[in-house]
Amino acid sequence: MEKLSNYINGRLLAPLNKGYIENTSPTNGKPYSLIPDSTHKDVDLAINSAKKAFKSWGKSTKEFRSEWMMKLADAIDDNAEILVRAESFDNGKPEWLAKSVDIPRCSKNIRFFATAILHFESKSHDMDGMAINYTLKQPIGVAGCISPWNLPLYLLTWKIAPAIAAGNTVVAKPSEITPYTAYLFSKICADIDFPEGVINIIHGYGKSAGSEIVKKCDIISFTGGTETGKEIASIAAMQLKKYSLELGGKNPTIICADANINLAVESVLKSSFLNQGQICLCGSRIFIEKSIYSKFKQLFLKKTLSLSVGDPKDASSNLGAIVSKAHMEKILSTINLATREGGNIISGGKRVFLDGDLTDGYYLEPTIIENLAYDAIVNQEEIFGPVVTIAPFEDEEELIKMCNSTKYGLAASIFSENTSRSHRLAARIDSGVIWVNTWLLRDLRIPFGGMKESGVGREGGYSSLDFFTETKNVCIKIEPEENK
Ligand code: NDP
Repeated sequence: MEKLSNYINGRLLAPLNKGYIENTSPTNGKPYSLIPDSTHKDVDLAINSAKKAFKSWGKSTKEFRSEWMMKLADAIDDNAEILVRAESFDNGKPEWLAKSVDIPRCSKNIRFFATAILHFESKSHDMDGMAINYTLKQPIGVAGCISPWNLPLYLLTWKIAPAIAAGNTVVAKPSEITPYTAYLFSKICADIDFPEGVINIIHGYGKSAGSEIVKKCDIISFTGGTETGKEIASIAAMQLKKYSLELGGKNPTIICADANINLAVESVLKSSFLNQGQICLCGSRIFIEKSIYSKFKQLFLKKTLSLSVGDPKDASSNLGAIVSKAHMEKILSTINLATREGGNIISGGKRVFLDGDLTDGYYLEPTIIENLAYDAIVNQEEIFGPVVTIAPFEDEEELIKMCNSTKYGLAASIFSENTSRSHRLAARIDSGVIWVNTWLLRDLRIPFGGMKESGVGREGGYSSLDFFTETKNVCIKIEPEENK
C-alpha cells in the first residue's frame, strides 16, 4: 500500500516513530494507503522548521510572497485532474463536485490572498496636530492550521493562504480521514521548490498530532466540530494566544408563502444534499409557511426521489459516498432516533448498496423527515449528512423561536419575494451568514463565520489578514513650533 509522507522543511519525510494509520476510501470501503501516525517529535521538527523559515519569510516583501503563492496556485491548476480524482476517492464526493467546487477553490484561495495582501492597508490616527498614530500589521510567527474532512483541500488552503500571505509560516494538519490531497499538495510544494519550511504538513490523529500543534504554534486557525473547538479553545486560552474557530451548525432554511417556489425547491435540494449534506452550511431544518407547506413538500419530495446515489466517478450521480463507516453509522442511528422522537421518514432513511466493487462503500439515501418537534434532539444536534427535517410555521414569531432554538448560529437561508420581510427576518436570526433567495453564494471578501457555538472570529478577506497579523500602534508626538 502507498505510504504517505509528512512535509517538513521542504522535504517529504516518514514519521519518526515509523507508525502509520490505514486510510480507507469510502467509495468502496477498502483501505488503500497508509498515513503517518505523527507524534510530538514530528510536530517539533515541523515547528522548528517553520520557526527557522519565519526569520526570512516574515521579513520578505509582500510582492515576494505573492509571487510564490501565484506560482503555487498555477501548479495546483496544472495538477487539477489528479487532485479531483484523489479528492473524490478519498472523501467519497462525486468527481463532478470536486471538479466544479473543491479543487478550483484551492487555487482560487491562494490567488485571492496572494493579491489581497498587496492591497492590505493599515490605519493612521491624527491627534489634531499633537501627535500621529500609525498602525503596523505584522506577522505573528508559526500558524497552526487544522481542518476537517468535508472539504479537505479547499478548507486547508483557505487557512494556509492568508497565513503565509501575511508573512507567517505554517504547520498544518488535514483530517486523518481525508489526508490524500493534502499529501499531493505537499508534493506540489516540493516540486516547485516552494521556500522550505514556510508550509509544513503533518498527518495523524487530532488527539496526538493535532493537540501538539495547538499547544506549540503561535496562533491557531481551526475548522471542525464544536466539541473539538472547545478543547482547542481551552488550550489556546490558557496560553493567551489568538485563535479562530469555525465550528458546527444546524442551519435553518425558511420558505415564505411569497417565495418563488421553483427557485426555492431547486436551492433547497442543493442546500440539503450537496456533498451528501456534509457541508457546514447545509440547511438541515426547513421551515415552510403553513399556506404553502403541502405544495412545497410535494415538489421537494418529487425532486429528492429523483436524485441518484451512485458511483462518484459517474457524472450522473447526484450523491456519492458518506466519508466513513463510523460517520454513516452515526447518521443512520440519528435517523432511528428521529423515528423514536415521533418523526415520519417521507423519503430515504436507508443505506444504499451499489453493485460490484462499490458494494462495501458507504452510501445513504437522501432523507426527509417530517412531524418532528422543533426541540427534538434530531432538530437540535448537527447530523452532517443527507438528512433534513421539514416543518410548517404560522407566523414570524413562531418561526424565529424555532430558528433560534439551537446552540448553533452559523448560516441561514430565506426564500421570499418580499424584501422588507427578508430584511426583518435576517436581522432577527442568530446566524453569522444569511442568504436571501440563494444558498452558498460566496464572495471571498465577506466576513465568514458563526455565532453562539458555531464559532469564534471571522474568516475571509481582510478579516483573515487581520487575524493572522499582530496589530501594533506607534504614537509619535509632534513638537509644537513654539518649543523649538
Ligand atoms: P473534528 O472536530 O472531529 O476534526 C477537525 C480536525 O481537528 C481534524 O483534523 C481532527 O483530526 C482535528 N482534531 C481532533 N481533535 C483534536 C484536538 N484535540 N486537537 C487538535 N486537533 C484535533 O471535525 P470533523 O473532521 O469531524 O469535521 C466535521 C465538523 O466540522 C462538523 O461539525 C462541521 O460542521 C464542521 N465544519 C465547520 C465549518 C465552518 O466553516 N464552520 C466548515 C466545515 C466543517 P482527526 O481527523 O484526526 O480527528
